[in-house]
Amino acid sequence: MASCLSESDAHFKNRAPVAPESSPAYLRNFGSIHVGDLASFGPTLHIPGTVATLSHIIEHARLAARSVVEYGEGLINPTVRLGITGLSRAGKTVFITALVHGLVRNGRFPVFDALSEGRIVRARLVPQPDDAVPRFDYESHVQALVADRVWPESTRQISELRLVIEYQSRSGGMRELVLDMVDYPGEWLLDLPLLEKSFEAWSAETVEMSRRGPRAPLAKAWLAHLATLDMAGPADESAAIEAARLFTQYLSACRNGRYALSLLPPGRFLMPGDLGGSPALTFAPLEVVPDRTPPRGSLWAMMRRRYEAYKDVVVRPFFRDHFARLDRQIVLIDTLAAFNAGPEAVRDLQEAFRSLLDCFEIGRRTFLSSLLRPRADRILFAATKADHLHHLSHDRLEAILRRMVDRAIARADVAGAAVDVIALAAVRATREAEVRRGGATLPCILGVPATGAHSGSDNRKDLSGQMFDGMTEVAVFPGELPVDPDMLFAQGAVPFRGLAATTADEADFRFVRFRPPPLETTGDGVPALPHIRLDRALQFLIGDRLT
Ligand code: GDP
Repeated sequence: MASCLSESDAHFKNRAPVAPESSPAYLRNFGSIHVGDLASFGPTLHIPGTVATLSHIIEHARLAARSVVEYGEGLINPTVRLGITGLSRAGKTVFITALVHGLVRNGRFPVFDALSEGRIVRARLVPQPDDAVPRFDYESHVQALVADRVWPESTRQISELRLVIEYQSRSGGMRELVLDMVDYPGEWLLDLPLLEKSFEAWSAETVEMSRRGPRAPLAKAWLAHLATLDMAGPADESAAIEAARLFTQYLSACRNGRYALSLLPPGRFLMPGDLGGSPALTFAPLEVVPDRTPPRGSLWAMMRRRYEAYKDVVVRPFFRDHFARLDRQIVLIDTLAAFNAGPEAVRDLQEAFRSLLDCFEIGRRTFLSSLLRPRADRILFAATKADHLHHLSHDRLEAILRRMVDRAIARADVAGAAVDVIALAAVRATREAEVRRGGATLPCILGVPATGAHSGSDNRKDLSGQMFDGMTEVAVFPGELPVDPDMLFAQGAVPFRGLAATTADEADFRFVRFRPPPLETTGDGVPALPHIRLDRALQFLIGDRLT
């Protein structure tokens, strides 16, 4: 059982701030389908089940034209467009802030070759290329993390930041690499599979899923309303509004920290960006017969039209303007939130992986069919917040993630992209300690829990019922991850207890929300944010472009 101890219980044994790198070589390259294998895809937009309309073909031509322009620009100014995504609160904002802070301030990145070899001269922020996209608010986020010791405001919509890295190549010449970072909600990414689904297929799948596992009680009110609807009857705006409201409520309940479910499209229902309250979001699944045409003027016809409009005005533009232009991707995953919630959330996360990899497959297939060069040639899946675990569990966390990704990748075609996994903490908020309890020694972590005011979950008290005051350091035994990841996924097994099924003090894992750490000062007096394996992530994502 997870537990939380006061400092006086603990026999502290401080460790070096960076966990030992005992894991095996991590630059693994899964799947090796090459660009040539895609030649069989013709010049149309390949969305099975969808006829390539004139607008699709025009859209595709635009994509191709822009790619040629960007390719030319890339030859003059080598550029990496890095997508940073993950579901809400996965850690995107903290990741980008820590990464830029580390590069600009020469952080401690021993595994990031260009920096550890002393070849990075300078990294500086410059104006971004896309005027219509909000700028990632780096300065405010650093102020929050470094000066105020609070976590920055999370991602709510897409934003962008451009960094120029001046470096010396291995052959001695001075070079520049432009790094464009694009931060966008993973909920939007998980919308891409909708492009392949009809309204009827999406409805059937969504309704079916809502009747299973922990979703069933959360979907009750929405399903009860659904049962009252006359699909073939006249289109009724108030019924549509009520259905959309109850459906959104159901999705938000699934997302709540207690259940932490991941697979909840359409993404804008939970992360509307600038579309909050818009009619484009006023639809919901119906229980309709697949392969039938809805009667004219019916509720069914209206919902179906809005669903298609959502794909046209939301999903396709996102794909075209942002996703299709990315060279590399990091997908951040709050695996520990799923552990907090329970086995169902972990399984749901695995399903979400399948969908995520489908997105990359759809993206590459659609894009590559007519273009000169592959995009997104590296994809990194990163389990975030590894500082919530003792370092003994870091490799286990990575192994669990690898197990999920391997399974998903076995079914997906990522067309030659290098895929890897990592467990990291962009900002390390904890230290480590060993605590003696009843003759046993527990591997614990030490940190200052946040007061809980913004945690959104059951995070305000320690196990003795004391309120966290945001000032006092406590030792926490978060629980130990299994050595064999298969234990988590065995059919029918209930491998552990989470918040979805029990109380916080009975749960097997407990990951509290810590405050950002007090800062260490580097040799030149500049504060550096401590991290776990952030340098390894950087090496995978851009190391090869700085040789
Ligand atoms: P986003 O929604 O993906 O942008 O998520 P954020 O980057 O805002 O992170 C959400 C929350 O997760 C933060 O407010 C922190 O509480 C926590 N968090 C994110 N990254 C880390 C990390 O590296 N270490 C720790 N301890 N907490 C983190």
